[in-house]
Amino acid sequence: MLPGKAETIAAIATAPGRGAVGIVRVSGRDIGAIVKALCGRTLKAREANYLPFLASNGDAIDRGLAVYFPAPHSFTGEDVLELQAHGGPIVLQLLLARCLEAAQGKARLARPGEFSERAFLNDKIDLVQAEAVADLIDASTEAAARSASRALSGQYSTEVHHLLDALVHLRMLVEATLDFPEEEIEFLEQANARGQLQIIQERLISIQQRAQQGALLRDGIRVVMAGQPNVGKSSLLNALAGAELAIVTPIAGTTRDKVEQTIQIEGVPVHVTDTAGLRISSDEVEKIGIERAWDAIGTADVLLFVHDITRKDLAEYQIGEEFIAQKLAISGTGHSAVLHIWNKADLASLKDKSAQNHQDHIWLSAKSGAGLENLRSRLLSLAGWQAGTEGVYIARARHVAALGRVQQHVGAAAVQVDANSPALDLMAEDLRQAQNALSEITGEFTSDDLLGVIFSSFCIGK
Ligand code: GDP
Repeated sequence: MLPGKAETIAAIATAPGRGAVGIVRVSGRDIGAIVKALCGRTLKAREANYLPFLASNGDAIDRGLAVYFPAPHSFTGEDVLELQAHGGPIVLQLLLARCLEAAQGKARLARPGEFSERAFLNDKIDLVQAEAVADLIDASTEAAARSASRALSGQYSTEVHHLLDALVHLRMLVEATLDFPEEEIEFLEQANARGQLQIIQERLISIQQRAQQGALLRDGIRVVMAGQPNVGKSSLLNALAGAELAIVTPIAGTTRDKVEQTIQIEGVPVHVTDTAGLRISSDEVEKIGIERAWDAIGTADVLLFVHDITRKDLAEYQIGEEFIAQKLAISGTGHSAVLHIWNKADLASLKDKSAQNHQDHIWLSAKSGAGLENLRSRLLSLAGWQAGTEGVYIARARHVAALGRVQQHVGAAAVQVDANSPALDLMAEDLRQAQNALSEITGEFTSDDLLGVIFSSFCIGK
């Protein structure tokens, strides 16, 4: 149990800024005093009560809806009060302060993710679902939102639990067999341990595939565009975005030379950084900006080196190309794949076109759209996206890593089952480790440290 579990906590649950409605959420054991002070009366459970929210001098801070969810039928599993007021920052701050005051020292501000953490600790949701709440809120594409909703509904957890049950069943069988060493082989054969393990492996692969796709939907891929000015990077970004612009609006980067935008390709978020102005510069400030742009390149999954076909024979242009190519070689593109984009193909001669088009050299025209489909599908395949995977649920890198460990241990157990004289103690141990790794996903076998890391990345009020 985490410290302070039963303390009453309060927070503004809606996003900062102004809105028609804003919500203050309170959860814990001292709700009664807060209800009485703010609402002036007791509230019927789970009903919308329209009333004035009272300040300590009896004046109304605002009028709105108060909803009381007595434990355990609430999001956190504790008594919860939600105050729906007008969504101004000052009104909500006043309401929040009033809740704390009314609790007379028995309530405090909630930490980030603390409502979800309590829901998890009180078994209202498991860790996968708690993460799915955050991922649904943060989803930047429709496909990501749908897969988060699927995970939130418990489908992902159910599949993990079925796999867990199968692992536990087999492990119990192996452990029971350990007690009768002289009959062990027949015993395993009779119970079809091999067949059981095979089913486990098949299910595991199916979950792994969908989790990998889900992690891609959540995290997307990082694409950095590099190239000289006027080669058509902005035009390419716009053409790629087209009608498929993701929900995320352009965010100005940390430097004036870096702009990041999220677009989507088949629902996969693609975070594109445009490193405008990669050129030889004597301006000190610009130089710093350009250096930072190069840092961004080091973090890319895919680097698009954009070239202008129409200028490729000009001496000055070639110097610029050489400069970028050298910088790429020096700064290293890490693990990123490099695609050469030959833009303005609509102006190119037939000879040029045939020379440029092969796997990592994509010929296209940002203006006419020719070749864009090729780039899109190349990006998706580099990211590992498999179109048409059914029932993808949002997943995180930690799930994919845990599933990888499950696969290792199940594989090691399979080696034993196939051996002439299987080491059943080793097999039992591998099944135990596989079980633990799998339980980490839903949070049944997760350290407090990891839980702290996960929940603290949520927003306040979540
Ligand atoms: P950036 O500086 O690399 O971002 O380049 P821009 O996207 O601003 O494009 C520079 C110029 O090239 C603009 O005048 C564009 O209209 C033009 N341009 C970009 N892509 C194409 C293309 O595919 N074909 C043609 N003909 N012109 C293009």
